Amino acid sequence: MKGIEKHTPMMQQFLKIKAENPDVLLFYRMGDFYELFFDDAKQASQLLDISLTKRGSSNGQPIPMAGVPYHSIEGYLAKLVQQGVSAAICEQIGDPATSKGPVERKVVRIITPGTVSDEALLNERHDNLIAAIYHDNGTFGYATLDITSGRFMLTEPETEEAMQAELQRTSPAELLYPEDFALPGLFHGLKGARRRPVWEFDLDTARQQLTMQFGTRDLVGFGVEQAEHGLCAAGCLMQYVKDTQRTALPHIRAITQDTKDHAVILDAATRRNLELTQNLAGGFDNTLASVLDQTATPMGSRLLKRWLHQPIRDQKQLNERLDAIGSFKDSGMFVDVAGVLRHMGDLERILARLALRSARPRDLARMRTALQHLPELGELLAEMPEPRIGELAQFAAPMDDLCDLLERAIIENPPVVIRDGGVLAPGYNAELDEWRDLAEGATKFLEELEASERERHDIDSLKVGFNQVHGFYIQVSRGQSHLVPSHYIRRQTLKNAERYIIPELKEHEDKVLNSKSKALALEKKLWEELFDQLLPHLEQLQNAASALSELDVLANLAERADTLNYCRPELVEEAGIDITAGRHPVVEQVLSEPFIANPISLHRDRRMLIITGPNMGGKSTYMRQTALIALLAHVGSFVPAEAVKIGPLDRIFTRIGASDDLASGRSTFMVEMTETANILHNATQNSLVLMDEIGRGTSTYDGLSLAWASAEWLADKIAAMTLFATHYFELTELPSLMDGLANVHLDAVEHGDEIAFMHAVQEGAASKSYGLAVASLAGVPKSVIKRAKTKLKQLEASGHQQAMSPANSAPQPEHQLSLIPEPSEVEEALANINPDEMTPRQALDELYRLKALM
Ligand code: ADP
Repeated sequence: MKGIEKHTPMMQQFLKIKAENPDVLLFYRMGDFYELFFDDAKQASQLLDISLTKRGSSNGQPIPMAGVPYHSIEGYLAKLVQQGVSAAICEQIGDPATSKGPVERKVVRIITPGTVSDEALLNERHDNLIAAIYHDNGTFGYATLDITSGRFMLTEPETEEAMQAELQRTSPAELLYPEDFALPGLFHGLKGARRRPVWEFDLDTARQQLTMQFGTRDLVGFGVEQAEHGLCAAGCLMQYVKDTQRTALPHIRAITQDTKDHAVILDAATRRNLELTQNLAGGFDNTLASVLDQTATPMGSRLLKRWLHQPIRDQKQLNERLDAIGSFKDSGMFVDVAGVLRHMGDLERILARLALRSARPRDLARMRTALQHLPELGELLAEMPEPRIGELAQFAAPMDDLCDLLERAIIENPPVVIRDGGVLAPGYNAELDEWRDLAEGATKFLEELEASERERHDIDSLKVGFNQVHGFYIQVSRGQSHLVPSHYIRRQTLKNAERYIIPELKEHEDKVLNSKSKALALEKKLWEELFDQLLPHLEQLQNAASALSELDVLANLAERADTLNYCRPELVEEAGIDITAGRHPVVEQVLSEPFIANPISLHRDRRMLIITGPNMGGKSTYMRQTALIALLAHVGSFVPAEAVKIGPLDRIFTRIGASDDLASGRSTFMVEMTETANILHNATQNSLVLMDEIGRGTSTYDGLSLAWASAEWLADKIAAMTLFATHYFELTELPSLMDGLANVHLDAVEHGDEIAFMHAVQEGAASKSYGLAVASLAGVPKSVIKRAKTKLKQLEASGHQQAMSPANSAPQPEHQLSLIPEPSEVEEALANINPDEMTPRQALDELYRLKALM
């Protein structure tokens, strides 16, 4: 702060506050604007697309400045938060009238991407998490917090892959990491990554922070005592959240360790490839969630997405979910239940704002609506015998007292903010009613005064009135003005009347003017007290909100199962997957033609399928639908098939498609091999493994050998349930060399030059590859196809092809050629020309003829 005295007093104040908030954009309140200065102004003008101006000068230099009107701040904050940027709101808290020098200002809240709770700043159908990561001695600690529900978790991933998968699953809006973090590549490109000093990750401080927050002596009760890496992350996170929120956080009451024992593990690549909640292009459409999510509440929508990302292994729990869905579906009850749930709104996030004491009048009005509908929901659920539904109904039992309180307290349609009052209902508080009556001037006093004065002085035109400029008055018609007594003081003369004031009325007037501010102050006090009355019930309300979310998800999955014709999967003890007429849940929705359902059977004696067939034949679709059905069964959802039997599953792996991970500097082949290595190390016989086109990114022999060796390893050493799609026909040999393997293929048929894909899975290996035909279909220039055809012939002639393909299962490339367009007339004519035997004249004629043929 050297040289600060050279600045104007206001700038000195700004610079002091800025120095306390160096890493965030400081919005400094000046009248009707929030202003940003210096570098903040430059940055904000770019991020928010607002103009950069200058304000006077300070310390001899013009000050860069940018500003936004105070009433539209929310929109700008939303934009910043989306870009991963934090902001501090600095308000005037002193009284401008009495301040000497600049009005006192203070940072009243800090908005960061991971800790926002304002409705306007959040996407209601997506979780918004803040996370912290820690790494030491090869193990990670990772903590996440959803400030809008108080859900606080920690995990300790043991490998980089597992850590990556967690990051992918939780996709935090903000991630805190120690400044000496060794593997920043893990979250390269994440918008909300924040460096924090190393000491914030100190273990003892963490324990202290957390026990203080939960009000416990130690952390044993949460079962996280030993998770030291996780605690280091959680401690930093807790501290950061407290610093930014600057208020108590009573809704964060516990921390849970997320162990992997009960989850079906999905690695990062698998989450991406299966397009659970986000498609490969980063959007939200054409994903599993987009097909399955017709939930009635935003909190249900968020829970569904969490479920999709965290399939579980516990068959008992899965069957409970399936029973509940089945019962909703068979009884058709999902319709009525969804109808009631639609009134529940986003109770979960409303409760968070209640806990943070930032709830707005409409939040409480919506909470009232939710509570009002609990009895109706209870009646519907009472008819359903399933244990899980019974438990949830218990949690969502009516809370008549709270409902009654809110009905008494809040008017039907309250304004957005408490600032100008008018939120609390008449009859809620007698004193408030009195002040308000006074403020509105509509009191008995005036009527009585009017009657008594009229009678006392016998002036029948006498009236008491009020106007904004002159306040209260007694009006007497001109004709009777001579009757007024001497203590009446004239205030105003009108054409036909005179207006007066008397001491009693003046007194009343002062009281009324006073009463406005009295009423408002009292209303704000009562509003805060209303929070105090509600907060002791926070836990019960939060439990109700999560029960409602789960009911929403279950009823929604029942509706989806009914509408989309899904079946209940049967969970069995023995490992294996048996699907009759399975479909791809997303592809079947986007196709205009009918989807061809396909079966699959994977078990001990048939644990790997080598899948061949033309490009575009449907190999990826077939593999992914198998994974999605297996995953949905482990979410406890019905599945797109006619019948499904599925055994225990510990992990799903996918190695699909090729994408360069340029951000982290890895080539396609490197990515492919890293993912393959991960699978070969971690798959077990209870894993489902999808391998699509491995070995593509390198030379043919390298690729083929790698694919071959990987397939052998998976089938023999690991015995994982594996779907292995490949363009190396050589691999179709494997089933005849090893047990437990089978060939299947997707077929195509030719119609003249056209190729039609059947999309039906058949036993045995494909007979053709159709590569050139598909290329031709895709519009590769004819001359290139032609050249490829020649090249192919050459390769075959040189014996190359034989070396590549085991004799009997080799594709028959000749067949492929028949699909390529025959030579054109021009080409044939040219082939027949022998220039050496032509006269110049003949050559010229021929040239004309060729041109005409074109
Ligand atoms: P491949 O992996 O063999 O190249 P894809 O699985 O990508 O083929 O499928 C290509 C296209 O074929 C898909 O986008 C889809 O439109 C269609 N398709 C795939 N499977 C089916 C099916 N079972 N029924 C109908 N259309 C399908």
